[in-house]
Formats: sequence, C-alpha cells, structure tokens
Amino acid sequence: MERTLSIIKPDAVAKGVIGKILDRFESAGLRVAATKKIQLTRQDAEAFYAIHAERPFFNDLVDFMISGPVVVSVLEGEGAVLKNRDLMGATDPKEAEAGTIRADFAENIDANAVHGSDSAENAVNEIHFFFADREIS
Ligand code: GDP
Repeated sequence: MERTLSIIKPDAVAKGVIGKILDRFESAGLRVAATKKIQLTRQDAEAFYAIHAERPFFNDLVDFMISGPVVVSVLEGEGAVLKNRDLMGATDPKEAEAGTIRADFAENIDANAVHGSDSAENAVNEIHFFFADREIS
C-alpha cells in the first residue's frame, strides 16, 4: 500500500470540478485518506516548490498557486504514486493523453489543474508538509 499527495490547483477549484477530479481517483481504486481545502500563503507555495526556485517559471508558478484556494488530498492504494501520475496526464495539457485529468480540465502548463507527487519518497515529505498524522486515516 502506497500514499501520494494530490493538489487540485486554483484553476480547477475555481471551475467547480473538485468532485469530478476526486471521482477520477476513487473510480481508479485510490482511497481518499485525507482531504482539505486551503488557501496557500506565498511562503507555503515557495517552500512547497523550493526545488523549482531557480527555474524561470518559478514566480509565475507561485503566483498561480496562491491565486485562489486549493484542495490537498492524501491518496492511498497499490502503486498510488504512478497511478495518480497516469490519471493526471502530462504536465503540459496539450501533450496530455485523452481522458486524463489535465486533458479534460487544464488550460495550459501554468494552470494545469493538478499536482501529484513524483516518487514515493517525495510523497512522504509532501504529505507531511500539509497533514498531521491524526488527519490521515
Ligand atoms: P508536474 O510534476 O507534472 O506538476 O511538473 P513539474 O514538477 O516539472 O513542475 C511543477 C509545475 O511547474 C507544473 O505542474 C507546472 O504548473 C509548472 N511548470 C513546469 N514546467 C513549466 C514550464 O516549462 N513553464 C511553465 N510556465 N510552467 C511550468
């Protein structure tokens, strides 16, 4: 059993597709072990995406991630990290396969609907960034 962190980004929250996206996870056999809607501060977003701090798109990414509330969730299931990445589709929605979350709900590479941990190791850190152990069950 594996856990991964999902973020439904501000564009998808604003569009009113939280339920549709959570349904994709549950329909694929991922259990929602924790979930909450929060407004990130600039400090939160900069810390969460610190690995991209030197990238040219970093400021745009941080501005976007604090432009409205997000929904963070812990998803649990066999191979949860890869399963979620498959459901999400490619980072650039133009390259995302038909039927993926980004193909169906994302606008562009900045406003790309969802985040998902890219490894089990990063998932552990990302989950602890947002959730206390008692919030996960
Ligand atoms: P992800 O794991 O598929 O979300 O992709 P990355 O971890 O590589 O990048 C994190 C986020 O930064 C992406 O989801 C995009 O929102 C944004 N991003 C990544 N690459 C680019 C880029 O080349 N240009 C822009 N504008 N944003 C990018």
